[in-house]
Amino acid sequence: MNDVVLRLNGVEKVYKKGLAGEVHVLRGVDLSLSKGETVALVAPSGAGKSTLLHIAGLLDAPDVGEVSVGGEVLSGRSDRRRTNARRRDVGFVYQFHHLLPEFSALENIVLPQMANGVSKSVAEARGMELLGGVGVAHRAGHRPAALSGGEQQRVAFCRALANTPRVMLADEPTGNLDPATSDQVFDALMALVRNTGLSALVATHNMELAARMDRVVRLEDGILVNA
Ligand code: ADP
Repeated sequence: MNDVVLRLNGVEKVYKKGLAGEVHVLRGVDLSLSKGETVALVAPSGAGKSTLLHIAGLLDAPDVGEVSVGGEVLSGRSDRRRTNARRRDVGFVYQFHHLLPEFSALENIVLPQMANGVSKSVAEARGMELLGGVGVAHRAGHRPAALSGGEQQRVAFCRALANTPRVMLADEPTGNLDPATSDQVFDALMALVRNTGLSALVATHNMELAARMDRVVRLEDGILVNA
């Protein structure tokens, strides 16, 4: 049986552009992500990938259509309900790591867990396990500024997974790295996702990286087509 973790149903989004009129960015996006499935989202810049990821991650609401996470329709629910669902079920990764600069790699993964009521020792054990899974356990005590770009992104992946979400949403997660590093870091991300049984929707420009995922969808004129 296909356990659907994330579903977008007829999602539309229009941005008002002042006197210039409006941009109909999403025109009826349908997408289902099964448990453990990895899907690449490809499209040219400006096509609406970030908009789609924000709506899928409950950071923004669609104008039309529905978003369900874990079988529960959350679009149209209260801010509090959506925020709680996002904190529990969604892990975000961006092109830039957004780690807290004054805390170590491990602390950056421990703090979100403690904010969710996990004890420090349990959070540290999980943090070290996650860091080990992407090959940076030996960098646990370093602050982000002391890490390479690739190491920073590996830590950001761990932070996104800290609270065992159902789905990871990533917006050009290796877009800021040189090609060789990007390659390795992307593989580390895929291994982490597969080892944890997580589902992932990853926006990327890189078709070679996209091909390493289970499925590729393309955003074209506001709808998703299979690539
Ligand atoms: P991508 O991630 O594929 O580069 P975006 O989702 O960032 O695309 O943007 C898609 C389109 O929507 C662009 O034309 C962009 O200018 C517009 N857009 C994005 N966010 C806003 C916003 N908050 N207000 C107005 N227009 C926006």
